[in-house]
Amino acid sequence: MTQYQRTAAIFRTVFVSVKNRSMLGLFFICLLWKFKVYKSKFFGGMHTQTTILIAKPKTGDYAEYDSNARLIRIDREVITGEDGKTINPEAPIKGRMRFIFDALLHEMIHMYCVEALEVEKEIELYHGLTFQDECNRIAGILGLEIYEGYDEYEWFPLNIRPESFYMGASLEFSDKENKLVRQKPPPGSMIARLIKGTEKGDDDKI
Ligand SMILES: [Zn+2]
Repeated sequence: MTQYQRTAAIFRTVFVSVKNRSMLGLFFICLLWKFKVYKSKFFGGMHTQTTILIAKPKTGDYAEYDSNARLIRIDREVITGEDGKTINPEAPIKGRMRFIFDALLHEMIHMYCVEALEVEKEIELYHGLTFQDECNRIAGILGLEIYEGYDEYEWFPLNIRPESFYMGASLEFSDKENKLVRQKPPPGSMIARLIKGTEKGDDDKI
């Protein structure tokens, strides 16, 4: 994707949001702002060609980092809560934004591993040791404690936030007494298939 195509896509997203009088435009502007803040706060102000787009991730998950296109895609339906399984659309907007910002942070860790640390091994592109080290480092900055035995880095930091953090916005993740209590997704659901794929090691979700 060229710089021109990226810019056009961003303008299209904002235009459609404003035209439909949805909250997407606001979310998108906040995402761009957070993207800038996170780069400086967590990643040493790294320079990157990567842009954010509100678009369907190719992996079928709610967010993805696409290293080829240099894009972080975030699903519109998750932002609006239309997907019905990730976000509670009735929850306070602050909690919903926290969830989306954490999803953005996760994808930015992938971005950092690829573009700054130049991790080339395929396994490291997903949730390998370099990725895990970065999660641990960022958890320290966030003041989050990674408890012993924690190994679900594919959901970091969403699955180690205190239960109240998302203010009821997250339908999927909660944390009680510092123990992971993420609900098991129903068999056959998109998320269940992704997890299964990850376990088999043939998943392309990053
Ligand atoms: Zn990931």
